[in-house]
Amino acid sequence: MVHASTAPKDAPGEFDFIVHRVADVRLPVGGTAGCTVAGRLAENPNVKILVIEAGPPNPTEIPEINTPARAFELRGSQYDWGYKTTLIDRPEYTRVEKPNTRGKCLGGSSCGNYYTWVRGSKPTIDDWVEYGGETWSWDNCKEYFDKPATYHDDDKLFSPYLEHVGRSGPLHVAHADLIPELKPFRDALEEAWVSKGQKITTDVYSGTQTGLFKCVSTIYNGQRSTSAVFVEGKDNITVMAHTYAKKLVFDGNKAAGITVLGPDGRDYTFKAKHEVIVSLGVFESPKLLMLSGIGPEDELSRHGIKPLVKSPHVGQNLLDHPILSHVFKLKDGYGLDSHLLRAGPNKDAAVSLYRKNKGGPLSSGLLELVAFPRCDEYFNKSKEYVAYKEKNGGVDPFGPSGQPHFEVDFVPMFSDAFQWHFPTPPAGDWLTVIVDLMRPLSRNGWVKLKSADPLDDPDANINFFSNDLDLIALREGVRWVDDIVMNGDGMKDIVGEDYPWPMPRNSDEAMIKMILERSQTGFHPCGTTRLSKNIQQGVVDAGLNVHGVKGLRVIDASVFPVIPDCRIQNDVYMVAEKGADIIKSAYPNLYPK
Ligand SMILES: Cc1cc2nc3c(=O)[nH]c(=O)nc-3n(C[C@H](O)[C@H](O)[C@H](O)COP(=O)(O)OP(=O)(O)OC[C@H]3O[C@@H](n4cnc5c(N)ncnc54)[C@H](O)[C@@H]3O)c2cc1C
Repeated sequence: MVHASTAPKDAPGEFDFIVHRVADVRLPVGGTAGCTVAGRLAENPNVKILVIEAGPPNPTEIPEINTPARAFELRGSQYDWGYKTTLIDRPEYTRVEKPNTRGKCLGGSSCGNYYTWVRGSKPTIDDWVEYGGETWSWDNCKEYFDKPATYHDDDKLFSPYLEHVGRSGPLHVAHADLIPELKPFRDALEEAWVSKGQKITTDVYSGTQTGLFKCVSTIYNGQRSTSAVFVEGKDNITVMAHTYAKKLVFDGNKAAGITVLGPDGRDYTFKAKHEVIVSLGVFESPKLLMLSGIGPEDELSRHGIKPLVKSPHVGQNLLDHPILSHVFKLKDGYGLDSHLLRAGPNKDAAVSLYRKNKGGPLSSGLLELVAFPRCDEYFNKSKEYVAYKEKNGGVDPFGPSGQPHFEVDFVPMFSDAFQWHFPTPPAGDWLTVIVDLMRPLSRNGWVKLKSADPLDDPDANINFFSNDLDLIALREGVRWVDDIVMNGDGMKDIVGEDYPWPMPRNSDEAMIKMILERSQTGFHPCGTTRLSKNIQQGVVDAGLNVHGVKGLRVIDASVFPVIPDCRIQNDVYMVAEKGADIIKSAYPNLYPK
């Protein structure tokens, strides 16, 4: 249970107290990073913190959020911001889609994500040094990847070495449940993987990611673990839920507070003695900065906003992983469709098992098996790739230091979260294979304002495939994975036709057309207020302070200067943990060593 979910109309006295009489107020927003920062700053019980959150305050009480296998149901629900975003904006082809899911709840997208707990390759995080300086190297971030979570291996199935991936933080992580219903599928996939000369790995955490991995997830004892856990039970944190951040308030060039729209429809302004921390996520953090006068000059003037700081990178550099999700028929009995998607005895059994002990198929995060391959042999078949690499001094642009080219997720079920244009098949078992391109060369998405109305969604263009080579890479990645799935030992006996129509694997052109039509967001947008050495390079400095003003930091996925080569929540927690320590060190009187 989260402490003090309070609306102004319920407790105006309390908010006066926080705003006017207490010395140490900070105002984060309650997403993945925001709750982590708030929880860490609240470790001094004398520091009072106000957390603003547009969604509800109680994720642990919401079954769709809390029950692992119901995660896909959250898309388009009341807990999803459901943004409309442009995915592709090429001269010959444009695609705008909705909903682009972001969690709307205390805990943010940690309440709506698909649980995998990975962090990326050392050389990719080391690329952050170019923007944030040496303090943002892999070696200097390592402890913060491990800090947020506690790792559990109650049955002692895995190497004790892995304990380091979560040492003693409030978040609970554990290996994917490995539910017995999926054992035949797991065995077949591992056999296929090895039969094609690929590695199985038990460790993707030491800076190198290669091979097929039984994933660690933010699930423990059959329940989702979210960043809301950081604020639970902390008397010095006040959560204002169902409340919208509208505009930052400045005293000269110092951030002094924030104006919000409360759940009663009235505006409230809260002051912060020390700092305001913006953690609204990749779309809303740059929006709030721009609404408050910090942003590109032309964008501010387009909406009649008086500039406080002309900061050209606000909303620029939006990055994401393009994915191609596709579906195969799976021999009946190998998937979870009948256990989770369709009414019948298997589903009834799953529901009663979950009710009884939080076990069974509903306890599964579904992305049990995740792989990190390189596909050089397939890339090298493309003349466009070979020409690009030659011009690039012989260096592979997609994994210049040996990083994996793809993350591949195997969901033994039809997953409409990744395939929402197609109807759920009415019968049978199915396999969804999700191929994520990890280091795309298209790096020029953006977030702008639709208007100066704070309640208007931002205008976001992810701009996938602005570089043609990403299309070719994704095409070859799909072919590479499909060779294992369709021809590998074990899998070839249980995999059938494509759904809903044949994949045109033998035609380069038809594959590209199919990718343009069917690719999606990997749900990993980041980069819109990136780390930087100065305002000409980005938006926040190495201490996550916004360039050009005082008392204002951004701490969330927006500050990533380079997209990690995996799903990104562990990296968001890392930034939040590191950011909290940076703030603590700036106030030694409040946080003595
Ligand atoms: C569907 C989905 C699946 C994913 N799967 C995985 C996965 O399997 N593994 C993985 O590692 N990562 C995954 N991710 C990515 C990861 O969860 C996110 O990148 C991360 O949680 C983002 O954290 P954040 O703090 O930047 O933003 P968020 O957690 O989104 O937090 C932003 C918060 O700000 C609030 N907010 C926004 N605007 C306002 C406003 N104006 N006023 C008040 N509050 C506001 C939001 O409600 C939210 O609580 C997934 C993400 C999604 C959406």
